[in-house]
Amino acid sequence: MKQGYEVYIGSPMFPIVLNVSFYLLLVTPFSIIDLFLYDWPIFKNYKILPDEYVTWPQVKNAMVLTLWNHLLYLLPISLAQWVWQPHLELPTLAPGLFEFFWHQIVALLIFDLFYFVWHWYHHYNRWLYRHVHSVHHQYYVCSSWVTQYLHPWELISVGFMTTLLPLLFNFHPFTNFCFMMFNVIVSIEDHIGYDFPWAPHRFGIGFWGGAIKHDMHHQKPLTNFQPHFNTWDRLFGTYSNHFEII
Ligand SMILES: [Zn+2]
Ligand SMILES: [Zn+2]
Repeated sequence: MKQGYEVYIGSPMFPIVLNVSFYLLLVTPFSIIDLFLYDWPIFKNYKILPDEYVTWPQVKNAMVLTLWNHLLYLLPISLAQWVWQPHLELPTLAPGLFEFFWHQIVALLIFDLFYFVWHWYHHYNRWLYRHVHSVHHQYYVCSSWVTQYLHPWELISVGFMTTLLPLLFNFHPFTNFCFMMFNVIVSIEDHIGYDFPWAPHRFGIGFWGGAIKHDMHHQKPLTNFQPHFNTWDRLFGTYSNHFEII
């Protein structure tokens, strides 16, 4: 991993910069689809709620809160990390393929479980729901910018789960960065509001979460708490697959 960029990649600010820039990169094309291309059959045919349209005021509102959260909370945290956290010493070699995949799976399973518990608790505890998680549920119709339409506490606590969990296990930095990017992809896919033909559940991966299940969570908030999969939801009776009958 050392090719002259280690000063930047090893910086304590790198994970946050990676997360934010990758998020903006992925959210932008879906905003363009929502606002300008929603009538194209290639998109319209896969819309989960075909009669619900995403409007510019909705997108603008979500953008403003996201940018506000990043400036007011994430930026100071990043600067503090930059000052207090030591520079990451990068290994010379990339991880082996087997090691990379099984560490990726472990990180995904643990994050998925932690987030499931966090999410469930922030619905069942009325105070936490009212003061924290209800911000995210102001949107009944999902769109990509809703992904990080969050109370600052939710953004920070889930962000910590994503960045610190793999570090606890001392996984390879490349594995950690890929895990963070995969989490960004999955969280945006959960909110895009489209059930595209390449969605994993269409390939018989029945334990996958995805857009259709998370859309259901925004319609029926006491169901589908898991971000990546649906195994814990099935086990604890909070799974809902209503959309599958559509
Ligand atoms: Zn959501
Ligand atoms: Zn929720």
